[in-house]
Amino acid sequence: MSDSTSTAPEVMSDEEWRTRLSPDQYRVLREHGTERAGTSCLLAEKRAGTFACAGCGQPLFEQGTKYESGTGWPSFFAPIEGAVETTSDRSYGMVRTEVHCARCKGHLGHVFEDGPAPTGLRYCMNGAALSFEPN
Ligand SMILES: [Zn+2]
Repeated sequence: MSDSTSTAPEVMSDEEWRTRLSPDQYRVLREHGTERAGTSCLLAEKRAGTFACAGCGQPLFEQGTKYESGTGWPSFFAPIEGAVETTSDRSYGMVRTEVHCARCKGHLGHVFEDGPAPTGLRYCMNGAALSFEPN
């Protein structure tokens, strides 16, 4: 995603997001949607590189922290420091920890405490919220 628009992602209007994002990206990033498991082409992405926010381009995860969780969503055990923020999500009668981009606040997915070492965390991300930049 280029930064050629004149508006900074922090202050972009809903209309600008609709123009800038695909319908799938918009539904996940701006409406807290969840893509269907197993549909992301990033699941099989194994090249060295960086996963960035599909909304604003901020680097979020390095390939080295990605692992196969078997859930059908791209999963990571740690984000790039400072790249994401979390909030408590009480929708659907559950308490989950919601993960969003620290820059544009776009919704990325959730984090669970059943991940692998060294963090024990599983960042369960929507592929639609990410773009992959090979090294
Ligand atoms: Zn972002």
